[in-house]
Amino acid sequence: MDNKNIVAADFRGRRWPAWISAAAAAALLSAILLAQGPALAGWFREAYAGLPLPLRDWLWDVRRIVPWVVQTTYLNPWTYAVVFGVFLLESLIPINRQQKPWSVGMVQDLLWAHTDAFFRSVWLPLYLVWLHGVYDRHLSFLTVHLFEGFSPAVRAVIAFLIFDALNYAHHVVRHRVEFLWRFHMIHHSQREMNLFTDTRVHIVEYLAAKTVIFIPMFMLQVNVAEVFWLSLAMHWYTGVYHANLKTNYGLLKYFMVTPQSHRIHHSVEPRHYEKNFGVFLTVWDRMFGTLYAKYDEYPEETGLDDDRLPIEESIAGISVFRTYIRQLIFPFRLLLAPKSRSAS
Ligand SMILES: [Zn+2]
Ligand SMILES: [Zn+2]
Repeated sequence: MDNKNIVAADFRGRRWPAWISAAAAAALLSAILLAQGPALAGWFREAYAGLPLPLRDWLWDVRRIVPWVVQTTYLNPWTYAVVFGVFLLESLIPINRQQKPWSVGMVQDLLWAHTDAFFRSVWLPLYLVWLHGVYDRHLSFLTVHLFEGFSPAVRAVIAFLIFDALNYAHHVVRHRVEFLWRFHMIHHSQREMNLFTDTRVHIVEYLAAKTVIFIPMFMLQVNVAEVFWLSLAMHWYTGVYHANLKTNYGLLKYFMVTPQSHRIHHSVEPRHYEKNFGVFLTVWDRMFGTLYAKYDEYPEETGLDDDRLPIEESIAGISVFRTYIRQLIFPFRLLLAPKSRSAS
């Protein structure tokens, strides 16, 4: 094992002080502890009662949600049209020519995509209901009444900008806070980036991200149901820019995240580290100096140079499931393991 490489991949950005990691860990731990309390059911009921009616109708009835997911995803011809279209483009204009559309990495991510669909549609709404309850109970004094007089269209634009800025901000945080980086490493471990890589996101990271986004949404009294739908719709956009596609979308590249710009973010080359954190707009990267403004660089290799990462090597037998479980456990193993690197 080459220890030098591990140090580089293990934490390749600027490190934030340990107390930030400790505070993030403490916040997450208290959130989990709170969720375990016997008051949970009561909070759910109360929070549920306080939600806007359309969201309430949609959220609670899991019996409706599951068939809805099946209907809109698995039984939707558009899903297959998009998948087929991206596969076709991947064989016509690939960045990495060695990678077939039906790669081992893609099959692994396909499993992530299925668990993600279930998580997104069943557990996430319940988590948001709980979070809304906690907000109402303990944090409602933070509510800002600034946008109340604005028209719905203006509010929608503001909501979108805030949503995208928060997406950017928490992506930076996930790279800079060591505790969160352990989980985000899983997303970055993909060496054969594809349409489904966007769903390779650890559950802990996912919940932390949603908390960071939705609490400010509650504060600004943004219509949570709309933001929720928006994030579902954006799912396809973010999926496509993870695919093995040699395109920078022409003029759109100046203000939107593209397969070219996001590949820079996943690149193994040191000059690309800690660049292009944006999720939809590139304006935040531009504003905070994290934009990599060369639009014609298409790094072939992606992933992290860390021998400890469980990387999929086969789809034989149950290995896809075994690797998935190992990837889920990996951040905890790292966090519990004695530090393998010297203080740096
Ligand atoms: Zn990242
Ligand atoms: Zn990504």
